[in-house]
Amino acid sequence: MKLLITGAAGFLGSHLAERFLSDGHHVIGLDNFSTGSRENLEPLRAFDEFEFIQHDISKPIYILGEIDGVLHFASPASPVDYLEIPIQTLKVGSLGTHNCLGIALAHGARFLIASTSEVYGDPQVHPQPESYWGHVNPVGVRGCYDEAKRFAEAMTMAYHRHHGVDTRILRIFNTYGPRMRPGDGRVVSNFIVQALRGDPITIYGDGEQTRSFCYVEDEVEGIVRLFHSDLNQPVNIGNPGEFTIRELAEVVIDETGSKSELTSLPLPQDDPKVRQPDIRVAREKLGWEPKVALREGIRRTIPYFERTIAAGGGAARVLG
Ligand code: UDP
Repeated sequence: MKLLITGAAGFLGSHLAERFLSDGHHVIGLDNFSTGSRENLEPLRAFDEFEFIQHDISKPIYILGEIDGVLHFASPASPVDYLEIPIQTLKVGSLGTHNCLGIALAHGARFLIASTSEVYGDPQVHPQPESYWGHVNPVGVRGCYDEAKRFAEAMTMAYHRHHGVDTRILRIFNTYGPRMRPGDGRVVSNFIVQALRGDPITIYGDGEQTRSFCYVEDEVEGIVRLFHSDLNQPVNIGNPGEFTIRELAEVVIDETGSKSELTSLPLPQDDPKVRQPDIRVAREKLGWEPKVALREGIRRTIPYFERTIAAGGGAARVLG
């Protein structure tokens, strides 16, 4: 298949592009390097079937030739990023999704939107099944991301119902692994980078809030299966293994052998207290479940950050 992947220079987009290229597909990667990096494109350039377009997908673009699939992964995804560039975040989720759906419609291509567990907001149902409508503060600081993704899902369903576009809605839960930026700002990269540099490990709030962390290889396998399925309804792809942020810090300290101390910072506004995917749909309809446990995934991620730091990759990035 000939696939257009937006956000191909990003953490998840580049892994996904590499997987599709390895599976023998042709990939046109698109990115504006707003939060993506040129280094993430290096492994993709090794494939003859890879092309790259530098473009901001919140602005229209016409792609000539055949396209069989459009996968929209372009978006800031770390709270520190989308708090810094809230308008770009809203635009890429709304206008960007509209533009991608337009490309899919024009080419008769399948469309997949990278949505998020943030559509559930600070959830009052736990774990979160796809049928849960969520508990989002539209005017809070996270609203720019949450509402852009909720709009993206609504727009996707409208194109599906009104234009008959063959669509998929992927709800991604906290994913980690190599190719995250050291200054990405999300908790896994922050803790590993802080541990390796001997900097204090920054726990926001009391650290009793929970997240469920999925290793990138598992996430990509789930995405590929969803893309090749016939499921038009949203599907959660995440690891149900749930940990408090304090527990994550302990695993990271243990695996890095770091002497870093824990330090407390204020809990960000609207920070969800709990998060855990209900993955019954993925299990039953895609035959998918994650295989890499947190400790193992952290072990696989550490060498990447060691290399990045040795190459002058910089410090973690904290809120505030
Ligand atoms: N967090 C933290 N220290 C950090 C970064 C994040 O304690 O240096 C917490 C944050 O408050 C949240 C959780 O870790 O409860 C996950 O944050 P992240 O930014 O990775 O993504 P989120 O799941 O909130 O979108």
